[in-house]
Amino acid sequence: MNLVVVSNRVSRASANEPMTGGLAAALLPVVEKSGAIWVGSSGRVRDGAQKEPFAEIEALGAGALAMLDLPAAHYGGYYEGFANSALWPALHSRTDLICTSHDDYQSYREVNSFFARALLRFRKPDTAFWIQDYHFLALGAELRALGVTHPLGFFLHTPWPARDIFGGVPHHRELVEAMLAYDLIGFQTEGDRDNFLSYVDGDLGLDTTGGVVMSRYGVSRCAVFPIGIDPAKFAAHAAKAASHPDVSRLRRSLNGEKLAIGVDRVDYSKGLVNRLDAFDRMLTRQPQLKRSVSLLQIATLSRGTIEAYGDLQNQLAKLVSDINGRHGEVDWTPIRYLNKGFSQTVLAGLYRTAQVGLVTPLHDGMNLVAKEYVAAQNPVDPGVLVLSKYAGAANELDTALLVNPHDVDGMARTIATALSMPLLERRMRWEAMMAKLRAGTIQDWFADFVEALQQAHVVNDKTPVETLPVEPAVLWPVQSLGAGVGSRFH
Ligand code: UDP
Repeated sequence: MNLVVVSNRVSRASANEPMTGGLAAALLPVVEKSGAIWVGSSGRVRDGAQKEPFAEIEALGAGALAMLDLPAAHYGGYYEGFANSALWPALHSRTDLICTSHDDYQSYREVNSFFARALLRFRKPDTAFWIQDYHFLALGAELRALGVTHPLGFFLHTPWPARDIFGGVPHHRELVEAMLAYDLIGFQTEGDRDNFLSYVDGDLGLDTTGGVVMSRYGVSRCAVFPIGIDPAKFAAHAAKAASHPDVSRLRRSLNGEKLAIGVDRVDYSKGLVNRLDAFDRMLTRQPQLKRSVSLLQIATLSRGTIEAYGDLQNQLAKLVSDINGRHGEVDWTPIRYLNKGFSQTVLAGLYRTAQVGLVTPLHDGMNLVAKEYVAAQNPVDPGVLVLSKYAGAANELDTALLVNPHDVDGMARTIATALSMPLLERRMRWEAMMAKLRAGTIQDWFADFVEALQQAHVVNDKTPVETLPVEPAVLWPVQSLGAGVGSRFH
């Protein structure tokens, strides 16, 4: 089978560069090994792209990257508009932050249709398309409209909210109907899948028994595939990273003081304000902890052109300065707040240096940082994960210290508990979490989804693959690309 993976952005980051987010971080290593073609935006826009999809191709391990310049007229409405100012807030249960227009929706549909046309070039008789995330809820339907009968899978990396909340998205019904063009729809947790099915049942009036939905497209199977990491890779990075200058400088600067770490994109879903408030409250209630623990908060900036993100960046900068101003001393700063990214090799060393990992989102599809923190710990002296019960990861990592991110006092107490947890308890909790990480790696996630997609498609497939028309560009040979040598075609 030929696999074509599609996401809004592709990643070329090596282990020595920061990842732009969980999706890119997760896909890069598996695509590299699988030989799949990974199609996404190049990050550039072009006038006239709408008429003539253009792809720049580059080898990526055993597979390839295909990067598309997106239509200039629709990019803003698609990305900042509908995807990130309507769908993202709603999927994270923040309908109050929806700020969009019908033009944005039109642009979202145009870009989905543009991707569908661009994907035809990669179609071979045995191709399966695996579409990633909320940017492309309607891409499957656009492919079907073009006559594509191949297996179409979709995976949602974010949560799916309660039925009434998704009903707050303009055009919600059309979007969910379009999603049913996928043979397989994958979610991070059972809660997400159940919320989706409750919408399909309640709003579309379709039967959802056994997670199977019958629509005009045929059968869609809705199932759960919790995304994993490569725990062995993180453990190896962490063991090696001790000698990295950033990690050794951090260790020296601590002078025996304990460290709590947070690593997040600046996004309202991550619960950063509540986390900082909790750290502040802990220092206020337990002043004896001053100088014995500080917080390293890595906060990478994203989507800064959207007002809600700009406002949050300002709010956080002010809050950090306020907390440091009130609790700091001439030779001690409670919060080190960094708006820059680190490579995963360095991150692993930073995670291992911290006795406490703080992952306290208000809502999060999975949160890979939680898993990475656990995998990077020293097995003989592991740190403690403080984890929001609203992160998808909490379903598996149930021996973390689970917190309610809306209960600031409760979080303050739990951080203090984590700091003083005895070694035996830390080890028991950590070993249980590691066993879960090893049982569900990123490689398992990839293989399980692809296998389920093939099975789900058999149910819908009415066309023998040998009789499908083959487009000329389909015959583009991945193997002929020299490593690192770019190739272009129209
Ligand atoms: N990340 C990174 N460098 C940084 C910060 C984050 O490489 O400085 C990576 C991190 O290792 C993780 C991903 O970005 O794999 C963030 O994924 P997560 O699921 O936690 O959150 P998302 O940003 O996708 O919402």
